[in-house]
Amino acid sequence: MLDSGAYCLVIRLEVDSVVEVGRLGRFRFAKGYYVYCGSAMNGLATRIARHQRRAKKLHWHIDHLLALPAARLLASVPYPSTRRQECVLNQALQRRRGAMVPVAGFGSSDCANGCPAHLTHFAARPALRAPQSGIRNLESGIPSPALPEGMSHEPAD
Ligand SMILES: [Zn+2]
Repeated sequence: MLDSGAYCLVIRLEVDSVVEVGRLGRFRFAKGYYVYCGSAMNGLATRIARHQRRAKKLHWHIDHLLALPAARLLASVPYPSTRRQECVLNQALQRRRGAMVPVAGFGSSDCANGCPAHLTHFAARPALRAPQSGIRNLESGIPSPALPEGMSHEPAD
């Protein structure tokens, strides 16, 4: 499998929590569901495995949320691609009904596509379609992942 691309993490937070998010500051996170979109263009499997591991040095904003005892990583969905698709995934998620950006700038320090944050809150668990083959990626000739509901394969830039 192609070992580069974007991914989404689906997280459940069981109780309202105050989190110190590195240098971003302290924020109150409402209980519910969070989706984080990131990408790893050089080692997608390793990055996802890192997110799934509890014991680690807290580095990214999302590490601080996942480190809470009340946080559960429910799903890690990879979207293998030779192109960065995290902002396309993220913006489509944020257009969904019920989507809320909890903390401006969360996970989006490197974002060049104008996302308010790469973390989205939902009161109910959002469905993310798992990647499937079937749609041809015209650039590489390999099957590209099906995007979550409501998302398109249009380029992000
Ligand atoms: Zn973005």
